[in-house]
Amino acid sequence: MSCADGGTLEECRLLIDYRRMPDRPVPMISVDPFVEESLALAALRNAEPCLWLNPSRQATPAPEQRALGETISLDDTKAAAARFERFAPLLAQLFPELAGTQGVIESPLVPAAALRPAVGLPQGQGALWIKADHSLPVAGSIKARGGIHEVLEFAERLALEQGLLTPASGPDDYRQLASPAARAVFGRYQVAVGSTGNLGLSIGVAASALGFRAAVHMSADAKEWKKERLRRRGVEVVEHAGDYEKAVAAGRTQAEADPFCHFVDDERSLSLLLGYSAAALHLRTQLAEAGIAIDAEHPLFVYLPCGVGGAPAGIAFGLRQLLGPHVHCLFAEPVQSPCFMVQMLAGEGSHPSVYDLGLDNRTEADGLAVPRASLLAAALMQPLLSGCFTVRDETLFEQLVQVLDATGARIEPSAAAGFSGPAMLAGSPAGRAWLQAQGLAPHLAQATHVVWTTGGLFVPPEEYERFVARGRALLLQAQGG
Ligand SMILES: *Cc1c(COP(=O)(O)O)cnc(C)c1O
Repeated sequence: MSCADGGTLEECRLLIDYRRMPDRPVPMISVDPFVEESLALAALRNAEPCLWLNPSRQATPAPEQRALGETISLDDTKAAAARFERFAPLLAQLFPELAGTQGVIESPLVPAAALRPAVGLPQGQGALWIKADHSLPVAGSIKARGGIHEVLEFAERLALEQGLLTPASGPDDYRQLASPAARAVFGRYQVAVGSTGNLGLSIGVAASALGFRAAVHMSADAKEWKKERLRRRGVEVVEHAGDYEKAVAAGRTQAEADPFCHFVDDERSLSLLLGYSAAALHLRTQLAEAGIAIDAEHPLFVYLPCGVGGAPAGIAFGLRQLLGPHVHCLFAEPVQSPCFMVQMLAGEGSHPSVYDLGLDNRTEADGLAVPRASLLAAALMQPLLSGCFTVRDETLFEQLVQVLDATGARIEPSAAAGFSGPAMLAGSPAGRAWLQAQGLAPHLAQATHVVWTTGGLFVPPEEYERFVARGRALLLQAQGG
């Protein structure tokens, strides 16, 4: 039996099981010529780096997008950005590190031409930039965007309900939320979250700064230093023997029983996703300030490390709504944890995990160690995303070092995942065929590649030195052999 091109019977079965499309006879699985889903599945199962390009991407998406019964538009992204602005004076007061930016939590967009040889992006295939979320203050990772937004939204709702704020309150009034009276109100509530580490850091720090009690349910793979950092701030750390998914489930169950507990649900939260999406507005300004045009002759490629999918999907949603057909977002995942690619291959109606493919979800990229994607993020991305690719842990360590040497930036392994993207697109046969078919190939020279570096600021120096040593050893080995 031949199932599409080249897939073995076993792989075909997998695809069919996942698809569960009773209305379509088995041999009619649609395989886009550039996708070759059965081949992608084989590579996924073998934990080999691979690229999947989304045949359902729409050039011009509808202004309103529906996902899991929710409808969101650019207005919701703008509302999240406006919330950050209202809270900025309070944030500047609560976090001394934000005094210099008047409470704005943002990261620079930096040119990275020196990194081009290392990432395999030759001259004439576009300019390379880094969106430096590894340096985001307060949380030290991209989680500063979504996590802090959700805590602020919860605090704002309570403050309005309890009369601490009125709908007419301006940003300066928000400073009152640091008053003892406000903190007494917040102290009655707990904010809880399940996390591999970084989301816990962001929620724990933001919630405890506002006076909430905070509890973080951590998975077994969460790094010890992240737990310690939270405990030092008075956050309750609950350790679970299982993976990320189990930590989330445990936190969710515990929170459901407590009316004074707000659970930040990484797999389902719209507030998180919209907090991330606000980054698009700032990136648009930064691109304009750098003189970078985005149009048919100047496409933009954005490479985003992906765990459960909320952060990259929020940002991709904002960018697609804001910049339209000429921005292409691609998600990067570890070869052992490609939950988002697996979900996109499976389509709506099923919710496979990476364990189903025989993968073990073990990766040093702890921010990306997620076995099953967020269905909210996946549904939202179906018409918006350009593709997904996977990366070996070894590559993450090598590129972490190359980033350090070329730019001085100190990033964590998760944050290096995007750097394989430009070469996957411009240097692989599948990528090149897709660029050709999309009409992008002739414009590659004027393209902009933005690699999103998603975490690193708070990695302890000893831990970081270990990452560097491992990366250097791998690079030496590669040169030697
Ligand atoms: C959480 C995280 C991501 C991905 O975010 P998701 O919402 O889980 O997809 C990427 N990089 C780092 C460093 C993270 O902590």
